[in-house]
Parts: sequence; structure tokens; C-alpha cells
Amino acid sequence: MKPEALTRRYVIPSSVPEVAELLREYGSQSCVVAGGSDLMLLRQQGLAPAAHMLDLSRIPELQKLRATDAGLEVGSMVTLAQLERSEFIESRFPMIAEAARSIATPVIRQSATIGGNLLVENRCTYYNQSQFWRDSIGSCLKDTGDTCQVTGLRNGRCYSRNVSDMAPALIALGAEAVILEGGKETRSALEKLYSSDGLFPHGGISAESLLLRVEIPAPPSRFYFRKLRLRKSVDFSSLTVAGTRNSAGDARICLNAIAMSPILVTGKAEALDFESVIHEARIKSKIVDNDALPIDYRKEMLAQFLRELWKALELKPSP
Ligand SMILES: Cc1cc2nc3c(=O)[nH]c(=O)nc-3n(C[C@H](O)[C@H](O)[C@H](O)COP(=O)(O)OP(=O)(O)OC[C@H]3O[C@@H](n4cnc5c(N)ncnc54)[C@H](O)[C@@H]3O)c2cc1C
Repeated sequence: MKPEALTRRYVIPSSVPEVAELLREYGSQSCVVAGGSDLMLLRQQGLAPAAHMLDLSRIPELQKLRATDAGLEVGSMVTLAQLERSEFIESRFPMIAEAARSIATPVIRQSATIGGNLLVENRCTYYNQSQFWRDSIGSCLKDTGDTCQVTGLRNGRCYSRNVSDMAPALIALGAEAVILEGGKETRSALEKLYSSDGLFPHGGISAESLLLRVEIPAPPSRFYFRKLRLRKSVDFSSLTVAGTRNSAGDARICLNAIAMSPILVTGKAEALDFESVIHEARIKSKIVDNDALPIDYRKEMLAQFLRELWKALELKPSP
């Protein structure tokens, strides 16, 4: 056994101040565990750092799901199964229920949480593999190598994809993240959590921070959500498109699984132009050959989903 394995701890704190204290003590040597459905797989594959593990499962404050005056507050430990089964969410925020229902499998959704989903590690065909597989082709840039196996380049660019399905839905809804950082609560637009660096895709939240909850404003008047994947269950997204239009005529369109971070396009509904939006989406997307579905097919489906979204949000003129 390696010496450091002896000193690694698995702690189950019972309050947020206790987690804050542990995060202060262990800093970047710590890692919070929510449902563990992503983290434990990565650990088994040797892709998560050896760290002290802080299990969030016994902190009631993080499990709260409550309606606010106009919107909704979702504690980071609320599970995807709770989101898909809540009658309140189904009636007021059907897009949240639909996005949750589209993820993984019913069994995984029992333990997978919204916090873990929003901070799920980026994926790539050349990264999410066993140690043996990775070693046999030469380790990639996101692992221990110096070359991106997708592009064959050594330019420091990692094209791993953000595959969270709750992220595009909640970003399209205009959600804010409430984070505990250095003992203080801070708040930011959810999209600010993400960075376009595939090596460090959650640049907006430090390793010593805790995502406390997500706050969602009043529901939109119209929405669109659709996901492309190989099979209707288990498989990760090859493309997710979410969009909303509120009563003031503001439209928010968010695309995911086609770049290192979610792509957000916003504008007044009457001013958005289909060709410009698709042009922007194509420029910002980084569709490379690191998914089960072929590049051209995903590009074609991006245009197709945006056409559907245009109709669902009643944006004009129709493409
Ligand atoms: C077979 C399979 C299929 C899947 N399909 C999909 C899919 O289609 N769509 C999709 O979106 N996802 C999919 N996933 C990923 C799954 O959604 C995530 O594994 C799950 O949502 C993560 O939640 P968790 O609570 O288990 O997170 P964990 O695995 O516990 O944590 C994930 C990451 O988030 C961090 N974290 C968790 N909570 C907090 C917090 N409160 N503050 C700070 N950091 C935190 C952890 O440290 C870790 O880095 C799939 C997973 C599997 C295994």
C-alpha cells in the first residue's frame, strides 16, 4: 500500500459549516462526493485524484427543494429522481423534469444529484477508458500524456465534452448558482461555472468550494428540450439543445455536449435571426471525433434541433 493511502480520509460531515471547515483544512487535497455515480467510476479508472473524500449525503440543508415567490430553489444534493417525480416541478418547470428524466438510467438517477450533474467531469472517447486501454494507445492530454489523441496535436488544447444535461436546461432557464467559497456565500449565473478549457472545465468554481444550491427564476412561457444519443437510455448526450422564451420576449438558447462547455446564445425573441444563431452555434461548437456518433451527423442534427426550437419558441421568421 502506498504511504499516502494510509492517511486519506473518508468523512461524512453533518452540516455545511463542517464541510467548509474540512475544505479549509484539506484545500485542493479534498474532493466532495455527492451521489458518487461519476466520481467513483473515475476513481476506479484511475482518473480521479487520490484525495480526502467529503461525503455530502447527511447534510439536510443541501437536500432542500422548495418553491420561492416566483421560482424554485434546488439544494445541490436533490437527486435527479426527485426532480423527475415532483408534481410541482412537472407542472411549473416541465423542462427540468424532462431533462432529469433523460439522464442515465432510473437506478443511477436515484443517487445522482443535481450538484454532481452540473459538475460532472467532461468526457472524451480517449479519456473515459480503463488504464490498460489508455496505456495501450498512449495516454491523452487530459490524463498524463502531452498529446490530444483526437486531434493528434500537442498544442495544450483538450476537446473533452461537457455532457451535463441539467446544465443546458438550467442555463436556458436563467438559473443562478449559490456557492460557498472561503466561508462566504457567493452567487453567479450558472453558465459562469464553466470554462472552455477541457482540462479544467469547471473554472468558475474552485476545488475548495461547495455548490450549495441552484436558484431558478419564474418559469418561461415557452420551452424546448431535446437530446441526441445512441440509445434512449444509459448513453451520454451527443448533443443537447435547450431553449426558453419568457413573457418579456427574452430568448435563451443553450447547447451542450458539442464543446468543452455549454454554449449560450441570448437575445430578444423578435430580433433573433436563425442564420446568425446557427452560424454562432457552429463557430462556438467544437465538434470533433470524440463521440460515438459521427461528426457530420451531429452537425446536421444541430441544425435540425435548432429548427425545431425556432418553432417551439415561436421565433420568427421560421427557417
Ligand atoms: C452510465 C451512465 C450514464 C450517464 N448518462 C448521463 C446523461 O445522459 N446525461 C448526464 O447529464 N449525465 C449522465 N451521467 C452522469 C451522471 O449524471 C452523473 O454521474 C451524475 O449526475 C453525477 O451526480 P452525482 O451526484 O453522482 O455526482 P458525483 O459523482 O458524486 O460528483 C460528480 C462531481 O461533482 C462534484 N460535486 C458534486 N456535488 C458537489 C457540490 N455540491 N459542490 C461541489 N462539487 C460537487 C464532485 O466532487 C465530482 O467532481 C451518466 C452516468 C453514468 C454512470
